[in-house]
Amino acid sequence: MFDWLIVGAGFTGATLAERIATQLGQKVLVVERRNHIGGNAYDYYNEHGILVHKYGPHIFHTNSKKVWDYLSQFTEWRPYYHRVLAVVEGKKVPVPFNLNSLYVLFPPRYAEKLEKLLVEHYGFGVKIPILHLRESAEGELRFLANYIYKHVFYSYTLKQWGLKPEELDSSVTGRVPVYISRDDRYFQDRYQGMPKRGYSALIQRMLSHPNIKVLLNTDYREIVNEVRFNRMIYTGPIDEFFDYMHGPLPYRSLRFEFMTLEEEWHQEVGTVNYPNEYDFTRITEQKHLTGQRLSLTTLVVEYPQAYQVDKNEPYYPIPREENRERYVLYEKEAAKLEGSVLFAGRLADYKYYNMDQAVARALKAFKEEIAP
Ligand SMILES: Cc1cc2nc3c(=O)[nH]c(=O)nc-3n(C[C@H](O)[C@H](O)[C@H](O)COP(=O)(O)OP(=O)(O)OC[C@H]3O[C@@H](n4cnc5c(N)ncnc54)[C@H](O)[C@@H]3O)c2cc1C
Repeated sequence: MFDWLIVGAGFTGATLAERIATQLGQKVLVVERRNHIGGNAYDYYNEHGILVHKYGPHIFHTNSKKVWDYLSQFTEWRPYYHRVLAVVEGKKVPVPFNLNSLYVLFPPRYAEKLEKLLVEHYGFGVKIPILHLRESAEGELRFLANYIYKHVFYSYTLKQWGLKPEELDSSVTGRVPVYISRDDRYFQDRYQGMPKRGYSALIQRMLSHPNIKVLLNTDYREIVNEVRFNRMIYTGPIDEFFDYMHGPLPYRSLRFEFMTLEEEWHQEVGTVNYPNEYDFTRITEQKHLTGQRLSLTTLVVEYPQAYQVDKNEPYYPIPREENRERYVLYEKEAAKLEGSVLFAGRLADYKYYNMDQAVARALKAFKEEIAP
């Protein structure tokens, strides 16, 4: 007899299981259909001893002290600041586009002029969305915005989403900034780092409690009628839970190609984006993330692709109004269950969450809906 059945052993399921087990002293069964815990953050050592992320590179960053302190109970951190370069007209420029990027792309006099204009108009240390910059009264700044839109943003978006920027919610296009700064870090969050022994080890520690039992390789539907429990938490796809009664929710998927090369380092930074050339969007070199010192190096190359139910993995919810409306239909079905099933997590909420947001969402659900 369990107090709770939790479907999914990703960050959301693990956080809720840990809170319920340690704070309420109740018994939890976590059911996971994959052959491992960790959800999409799962990592493992490959045959060359390099720690790789099976479902794409995961970099931890947050502004939430609460989330950072919470996770720090289960891991030590390796300080790590992610850096990304994008190949534009044969040169590698820092992204998000910043003042250093100007000097890589343009002749020094012109870069200086653009820098001066940006600082004069907006001040130093500010992030300006390129859509905003495109409306500037200053012709040179409009040129810059259009240049970035065309060379960095437009074709990357086409590849990543299979859609033109104007076919996506303006929340996506509106966010891409020019950072008026020399800070080349990809994220500016207050807390940044990689779990010292990896994400799987971190989540393993969260789940290591006598009140928590984990069942792998099992779809919850196989056991839901066999096991006794009081309440259920579901972190899987909400459309699947309701047998796609309102149609599948659209996602973008990815194919990951791993390759190990006999060289110590392959690229200057963790990730290099290829907005314009090739079918893939980016290459990540894992050792930058893990800090390992080995004579070989493993890369992961990402090829975006359409998502098909049961054929590949649902990764990114496609941010379009009509998809949100479909999700709301499922949300209404969930409300009819009157709290007997609690839906949480990126697949159940049909929302892109970073790991810290998934943990914050789970902590909030625990506080407000489980132990008010
Ligand atoms: C390519 C990619 C890169 C990312 N990079 C970053 C990053 O750099 N930084 C960052 O902060 N975040 C990143 N994220 C986001 C991060 O992966 C999510 O925030 C996190 O995985 C959310 O955890 P979750 O538990 O909600 O969902 P998941 O990790 O998806 O876990 C849900 C689990 O439920 C299981 N499940 C589903 N249905 C069933 C069922 N019927 N029965 C049993 N089990 C079931 C699934 O197998 C899965 O393991 C990235 C995501 C992707 C796709």
